[in-house]
Amino acid sequence: MSETIRTLQDQFKQLRLSETATELPTILRQAEQASWTYREFIQEIVSYELKKREEKSIERRMNWAKFPYIKTLKEFDLTEQESLSSRQLTQLEELHWLEEQYNIILLGPPGVGKTHISIGIGIEAIQKGFQVMFVTMGELVNLLKTEEYIRKSQVQLNRIRKSDLVIIDDLMYMAMDQREANLFFHLINHLYERSSIILTSNKSPDQWTELMGDEGITTAILDRLLHRVEVINLYNDSYRMKHRVSLFESESVQS
Ligand code: ADP
Ligand code: MG
Repeated sequence: MSETIRTLQDQFKQLRLSETATELPTILRQAEQASWTYREFIQEIVSYELKKREEKSIERRMNWAKFPYIKTLKEFDLTEQESLSSRQLTQLEELHWLEEQYNIILLGPPGVGKTHISIGIGIEAIQKGFQVMFVTMGELVNLLKTEEYIRKSQVQLNRIRKSDLVIIDDLMYMAMDQREANLFFHLINHLYERSSIILTSNKSPDQWTELMGDEGITTAILDRLLHRVEVINLYNDSYRMKHRVSLFESESVQS
């Protein structure tokens, strides 16, 4: 590699165009081989840098989101979930509700696809440039309770507070005490009208009071969550149960 190219690469790096710096020898070779015009050459460099930055930004936000597993909405089989229409799924995918700070509540028994759909929406949102955080209710309560003295909890909660979309999985899976309900209320209040929330739960909102204990706080939380909301009820048999892999399935029945 010639000295000039190396110097140019350093200069690109100084300008914080590190993707282009790395790729420069290849781009130059292509330019020479295909006899690009000056304009084509500049266009190529600029779009290369932008494309790489976009990819990195998506990758970074995917890591931040902390999804428990990666499954897209394309992988969600609507024939297995008749309580959701393809029109509804498309609306969820288009994310207008997210731009308008609507919340989504996904209700239904275990295994019907609540977590899958919320992850799928989260991935879609990241690809469209939004910041997303996924957290289970259990983790969230833990983060809130340890925020004062655990640095990691502070970092996570700051990310949650800054996110455009916060997915809270398995709400009310556990009963909360008064202090926990209070901390949760403050978080919801902060996110209210600033971000969208997706909540998944196997209990309907009218059962949430008994789990949160305090009726006043529950009402205050529900007020904010339900102000602008789309509630989606999922029924059907558990996909997980229907498609479970049996340990004994492949064994012969001779014995
Ligand atoms: P839950 O409603 O309990 O959150 P999940 O979303 O975790 O259920 O679904 C359980 C498993 O079944 C996941 O692996 C998910 O990908 C799969 N699953 C559920 N419903 C569907 C569906 N309609 N199409 C494809 N996979 C599904
Ligand atoms: Mg789930």
